[in-house]
This record gives sequence, C-alpha cells and structure tokens, in this order.
Amino acid sequence: MPSTPAAAARQILIRLQEVMAARTGAQAKLNKVVEIIGESLSSEVCSIYLVREGVLELFATRGLKQEAVHVTRMAMGEGLVGLIATNVETMNLDEAASHPDFSYRPETGEELFHSFAGVPIVRRERAIGVLCVQHAEPRKYEEVEIEALQTVAMVMSELIANAELADDSPTDLRVTDTGTTMLHGLQLVMGMGRGHVVFHQPRVHIEHTVAEDTEAERQRVISAFAKMREQIDRMTGAAEFGMEGEHQEVLETYKMFAYDEGWSRRINEAIDSGLTAEAAIERVQQRTRMRMRQIDDPLLSDRMHDLEDLANRLLRIVSGQLGTAAQMGLRQDAVLIARNLGPAELLEYDRRRLKGVILEEGSLTAHVTIVARAMGVPVLGRVRDIRHLVNEGDLILMDVTDNSLLIRPTADMEEAFENRLHVTQKRRAEFVAMRDLPSVTADGQRVELMVNAGLREDAQALDMVGADGIGLFRTEFQFLVSATLPQREKQQRLYKDVLDAAGDRPVIFRTVDIGGDKALPYMQRDDDDEHEDNPAMGWRALRLALDRDGLMKAQARALLEAAAGKVLHVMFPMVSEPWEYEQARALIEHQRAWLHSRKKKLPIAVRYGAMLEVPALAEVLDILLPQLDFLSVGTNDLTQFLFAADRSHPRLAERYDWLSIAILRFLDRVVRTCETYQVPVGVCGEMGGRTLEAMALVGLGIRRLSITPASVGPVKAMIRAIDANELQAEMRALLDGGVRDVRTRLIAWAKDRHIEVG
Ligand code: PEP
Ligand code: MG
Repeated sequence: MPSTPAAAARQILIRLQEVMAARTGAQAKLNKVVEIIGESLSSEVCSIYLVREGVLELFATRGLKQEAVHVTRMAMGEGLVGLIATNVETMNLDEAASHPDFSYRPETGEELFHSFAGVPIVRRERAIGVLCVQHAEPRKYEEVEIEALQTVAMVMSELIANAELADDSPTDLRVTDTGTTMLHGLQLVMGMGRGHVVFHQPRVHIEHTVAEDTEAERQRVISAFAKMREQIDRMTGAAEFGMEGEHQEVLETYKMFAYDEGWSRRINEAIDSGLTAEAAIERVQQRTRMRMRQIDDPLLSDRMHDLEDLANRLLRIVSGQLGTAAQMGLRQDAVLIARNLGPAELLEYDRRRLKGVILEEGSLTAHVTIVARAMGVPVLGRVRDIRHLVNEGDLILMDVTDNSLLIRPTADMEEAFENRLHVTQKRRAEFVAMRDLPSVTADGQRVELMVNAGLREDAQALDMVGADGIGLFRTEFQFLVSATLPQREKQQRLYKDVLDAAGDRPVIFRTVDIGGDKALPYMQRDDDDEHEDNPAMGWRALRLALDRDGLMKAQARALLEAAAGKVLHVMFPMVSEPWEYEQARALIEHQRAWLHSRKKKLPIAVRYGAMLEVPALAEVLDILLPQLDFLSVGTNDLTQFLFAADRSHPRLAERYDWLSIAILRFLDRVVRTCETYQVPVGVCGEMGGRTLEAMALVGLGIRRLSITPASVGPVKAMIRAIDANELQAEMRALLDGGVRDVRTRLIAWAKDRHIEVG
C-alpha cells in the first residue's frame, strides 16, 4: 500500500476505471470492485451494501459467504452498517463485536473477523450504500486506508447511480404527499411571509469522478478559484449596506475563506488521487462535513456554512452548472428553501420578491441570519428535512413569531393568515403612532422604556420606536464582528456616533462581556488552549477584563473621550462580588484622572452601574448599592444561574418560566433592597421585552426596562393601559400567597381589564 492517501487512492482508481468502462453488467462490476479494493488494502473482507427500498442489502462481497449476497439485509440504523448509513459517518474499529450496535449475522460467517472499517457511499448528502472492509486480526485501519476507501466510495456512487442500483432517482426525493402540512422551527428573524417554494440550489450533478488527465483537472480548479474570488470581491465591494457595519465584516470573513490556501491545497491533493475537479471539491467537502459533525461548536459550524456556500459556488463554476435560484431570477413571491445559506448567497436575491427563508440548519449567531435581519427577510431555522417535504412551486405561509410554517395551505388557512398579517401590520402602524406618547401608566406612574443595542445602526431605532435611551449597549458586539481587536480610536468613534445619535437621551455602555462562549479568535489567553467545560460560568466579562486590564483601560479611554462634554453611563457585566465593581470603577477613575492631567476634555459626569446577573451579588447589595448610581438586572444570565439551566440549551428553553415564583420573589427582594438604598433598578434581559413578563416586572416595582426595539410598541401600549397601584397589589398577593401558576393568574388579570399581553 503506498504511503500517501493520494497515491493509494490513485492506484485503486486506475484499476476501477477499467472495471467501470468494461461492457459487463452492474453486478459483475460490483463483484470486481470488491476484489480490487480487498486486494489493494490487503483486506480479507470487502463488502458493498446498497440501500434498496429503504433497507441496506449486501450486494457484493469478497471474504464473506457468497450465500449471504442479496440475503443479508439491515434496516437503516441497524448494526454498524446501518449506523454508518444513517449518520453518514465513517467507522473504524479494531474489535467490531464489542461495539454496542454490532449486529451478528450468522449467514455471513463474519465471526472470523475482528477489525472493521466502513464508509458511507454518499449521493446528494444521503447514504445510498456502505463500503466496508474487515480483517481477522484486531487492528485499526490506518488513515491512508480510510482516506482511500472514502475516495473509492465517492467514485462508487457514480457507478451505482448510473446503474440505478440503489434508491436514488430524483423521484424518490420528490414528495408524493400533496396535503397540507404544518412544521415548526427555530425563530431566527421575526416576521411573516407568503410565497412559493424555490429551492436555493438545484444540486450540481457530478457526472465524472475519475480523471482522464490530472493536469487538465488541476488547471480547471485553478481557473475556477480565480473566477470565484473575482465574484466574491465584486460582491463584497458592491454590498448594498455600505462600507460600514456588521455586514461588511461578515463578508470580509467570507472572503478570507475564499482565499484560504489550505482549502485549495486539499482539493489539489484529491485531484492527485485521480479524481476530477468536481469530485475533488465534493470529496474535500464531504470530509469537512464529517469532521464538523464530530465537533459540537456552534461558532465553528457557522463558519462551516460559509465554507459550504463557497464550495457550492466553486462546484457550479467548475461544472458549468451555474444556476442558483438567484441567478435564474425570482419570477413570483418566493420562500427560499435551503439546507443552509451563505451570507453572500442570500445577498444575490431580489429583496422585493423574497418573502422568507426556511433553513434545515441555521442559528441565531450565523452570518446569514445577521444579513437577513438587515434585509428585513423573515427566517425560520432548524426545520428538519424541509427540502424533502416540499415541491418547487408549493405555496408556503410562514409565521416566525409563531415558530410555524404551513405547506400547501387550504383556502381557509390562507384567509386566516392574510387576516393575521393585516392585523400585525395595523398593530405596527398603531405602535408607530404611539411613538411620541409618554410611557406612563393609567395612574400616572412613569416607566422608562429603553432599548438594547450593540451596533452603530441600532441607535437609529431610538427615534423609530420612540425610546427613552439605550439601556444596554453591548460593546462586545464590535469585538465579535471584527477580524482583529478594535483599536481604541475605532471604539471611540463608535461610542461617539452612538452618543450623537442618542442626543439628550442616556446611553448605558456595558464594558465588554467577552470570553467564555464569546471567545475572540484574536485574543488568546495566557494558558492558551485551556478548555472550559462551562464557558458561561468561566473566565469571561469583568473577570477577564480585570485580569487583562490593558483592554479595559483602552475601552475606558475610548468611552471617556467619546462622552466629552456629556454624561457618561458605564455598567459592568457579571459582577459577582463588590470588590470587582470597586476595582473596575477605580480603573476608569484612574483613566479619568490621567486624561484630566493631560487637560483633555472630559464628561461632565460619570454614572456607574453594575449588572446583577450572578445570584451571589443579591446577598451583598447592602455593601454594593451605596456605591452605585444604578443597578440593572440581566435576567438572561440570572435565570440560567438561578435554575442551573444553560440559556442556550434548546431542551431547556421552555422548561423554566420567567414568571415562576422563584424568579419573581428573587426580583422582589432585589427591588425592595434597591428602594431602601434609593438606587434606581432596571431590567435589561429578554424577559422585559415580553409584554406579560414586562407587566409582572412593573408589578414588582421596576420602573426601567431596556428591551429589544420591536417590543417597545407593545410594551408601551400595555403600560399605558394598566393601573400600576392595582397591579402591584395583585403581585403582592400572588407572591405572598405562594401561587404556583402566576402566569395564568396574570393573564386572567389582564384579560379582565382588556389589556393586551401578547
Ligand atoms: C443578561 O444576561 O440578561 C444580559 C442582558 O446580558 P447578555 O444577554 O448580553 O448576557
Ligand atoms: Mg448577561
């Protein structure tokens, strides 16, 4: 066996090519294939299983008993072969029988063989078969052998598809069901949309996998790369969102991938193994996909989507099958369906006709989500198998607010949807009309309504929704969307722009909350790759900032200089003990004194606040509050720590209620203590943006909420409708009475008074 994967695969492919070109039947070819692979890998057994009528059937073998051929059948997910097919994943075991999924088939005589390696034969991202090898001696197969097997499996998929041996014809992937279906997904970008199904990408069909002239294939890839880079450069230059801002940074990262030398090198290596340019691109992509499946890191998988986007683009260029739905143009209102999309791919669509996007994957932090939000296109993510449940042209109604989509709705459903859309639009218009009305309860109590922000553009929302200021400016956003650490001047420019846009209204800047799960690639820690099991409870936010005070000093200077002549509000995240707050404040004061000594223009006042998001801090408020100008409760983190429930874990998302008596009593105690020390207290977590929850908070005595801009209208309407005194009495009774289901009671209370709470 040659020592490099390319040489090993190449040797096998040369022999396979002859087999494939021979004028024999498909079964004879498969019989020959298992002989060649077995011989080349010196493997006692080589077998091919193919998916037929949804079941894996042994189609050819060298080494197992021939009587088992077309007799041994495994369901998907059954045994090692079934597992490989279901998970589309390679397996390499030195002792197959000790694997929990091993399923013994006496008719094959496989008890003689200990080691086992299998790779999926993939077509359109699904396994249409499994290629496996077995050995009597217990040993793991080497990387070279596995790579060779994977390359061979890739070529096999062509042979199998051409011979129509496995379940693969496009009709199998088409939906026969024509009835109405309702599906649910993950809210990525809010909104409602109605349109006809358009598949983002008719898949590129790879016609030839084995190269005739390797040098020519290499040249094809080189020119395809050049063309792709040119396209990306053009797109980044012409992005409609201007040069500044998050989107630009997103596209820059994307560009970085396009120029990644490692990627093109891997494709060239695959060409060296005897594959065509198309097959080599797909081969590298398959390998990356398999690796990514094993890494459970949402940030990495977001980057993976960018790479998929580019690989598809490259594949289209090299194969000349150019059309994405965007390039063909949208002919009517469309809902776009894709496994995932890259940000640049989304930008190619005509915004006027694109009414929504539905993805099988997708996450809140993905670049494409950020771009879609900027385009104002609703997106529903994690809708499993959607590509196989709809047909091109089907009508879809999607309502992200409701997490749902309707495929092929009935006329009644369509009418109901249109009515809801109309109501939503009308409500939105009413909220806009309310923009200039004060946020005051029916009995005259003022509740400040501020917005959460993080980017330069967000400041515009202040005027649009009529908010009282920015109650939480997440300064780490600028760090997260930058490829390098933002310099002090750049930070200062952002803060100044935001303060200018806010005018007289206050902006509360939170110092960076990075580290933990918001790791920045350009900021390595000293002990470098020390792994954190619980990043949310790890070295993050103020903890990191106090250790790395260079970062904090630069930010302090940027803030102080940006707020020259104005009042500066600074808030520290994740304060766990008073000394942390004291140290952070001293650091800023020190910078202030230094600037003063340099005769620099300073803010007319600096107001300091702390976030209460670590429960321990609630026990020492008597020590902390006398030093504070304000306190802000971060209910996102606070809830996860109070309930020991990861805030980003999908299974726990609905498990604990913000209106649980535990949280409300906790907040009640905090509010009472703040009253004693006469320190204003607000809430800046997502809880305050939900109308019913916001009502509960007002009932606890909270008089400042900082929420997402879209919630300002509905929350203000609620505030203007309630009698705060009456509500506070009701909340007191519920808390003191130990009522279990506060939610139901509050809904009933609101309903009795005709108050809309969502
Ligand atoms: C919070 O934890 O509630 C909060 C507002 O901060 P973040 O969501 O940025 O952690
Ligand atoms: Mg927080």
